[in-house]
Amino acid sequence: MTLSEMENYFESIGEKKFRASQVFNWMYNNLVTEIDQMVNIPKSLKAKLEEQTTLNTLKLSDVQHSSSTGTTKYLFKTHDNHSIETVFIPDLKRNTLCVSTQIGCPLDCKFCATGLMGYTRNLSVGEIVDQYILTAAEVGKETITNIVYMGMGEPLINFDNTLQSVSIFTNELNKRISRNRVTVSTSGIPHKIIELADSPYRVKLALSLHSVFEDIRSKIMPINVKYSLAENIEAIRYYSRATKTRITFEYTMLSGINDRTEDVKALTKLCRSLPSKLNVIPFNSIAHMSPEGISRELKPTPKSRIDEFVAELRDNNITVMVRDTQGDDIAAACGQLAIRELKIPARNMRE
Ligand code: SAH
Ligand code: SF4
Repeated sequence: MTLSEMENYFESIGEKKFRASQVFNWMYNNLVTEIDQMVNIPKSLKAKLEEQTTLNTLKLSDVQHSSSTGTTKYLFKTHDNHSIETVFIPDLKRNTLCVSTQIGCPLDCKFCATGLMGYTRNLSVGEIVDQYILTAAEVGKETITNIVYMGMGEPLINFDNTLQSVSIFTNELNKRISRNRVTVSTSGIPHKIIELADSPYRVKLALSLHSVFEDIRSKIMPINVKYSLAENIEAIRYYSRATKTRITFEYTMLSGINDRTEDVKALTKLCRSLPSKLNVIPFNSIAHMSPEGISRELKPTPKSRIDEFVAELRDNNITVMVRDTQGDDIAAACGQLAIRELKIPARNMRE
């Protein structure tokens, strides 16, 4: 619940409105996990709350820590026994929390473990915010400086819940996370990008690009058939103008598919045409899922080619960041821990 929803709730049960900010504070700022820990709440109200409400919607079920990078991956169980994951990525300048917005994802991108999992449902606002509350309780509440919506699922399909969680993070916490430290990553839903631009939550936007060519993009990202790259580019131009922010293009390097000389040329042209930067991501293999069709053929671009590709783009004055393979040793790529948890039947395993 947002603070105002909580106020309505307390009024509806005949309680004073100020109880809402007390409880809100306990939950979101003091990160308590038991109603009993809320020491300034009267016993009778605590009993009512115990009866009528649930404090946390997720349960921590596994933690994996990469000692080489400090990245920690949290696996949570939802009330209906599904698994979702949240990744904490500490860095010199910032400590980023990567949150999930759906159980699985309906968009079926061919390189993505979450896509291969299929789709179960949207996460509720509580389940999105709980990823923050429960990891902040683990790593220290002052520690998380940035939030990226780059975990499992497509945030712009779960639009309202994503926005409401952004609202809580950026407006309602004591130690607010400023909206230029929140990034929503999307595979590209143009009308939702426009709606986000026109909302009060003008967060940073990342578009999963992966190819500048419509036909290739459609092969690896089926959603491109419905919402073409051209429409998405128009939408992000609008977004960039309306929010005065730079768009990040995410670009997962797939050997022979998007790492050719013509890709460098087309990328250069696109990046020069609007305020943007390119985030090059080494492809994390999904072979453990024994994928079929085109997914089976996808191979990571060798590191030497990534280096050349990036150098060629930088020579063209394009701003390029190369994402570390953070947490490789703990399978911290999109959807991988939750997948392991699914216990893929042996017959689907590759020899
Ligand atoms: N659904 C949103 C956000 C979640 S995916 C989106 O697609 O943007 C976050 C990022 O991880 C996306 O850029 C996605 O393309 C990338 N990604 C997914 N699977 C990957 C893999 N196996 N290796 C590298 N990057 C991957
Ligand atoms: Fe969904 Fe993003 Fe994975 Fe595509 S890359 S299947 S949109 S989570």
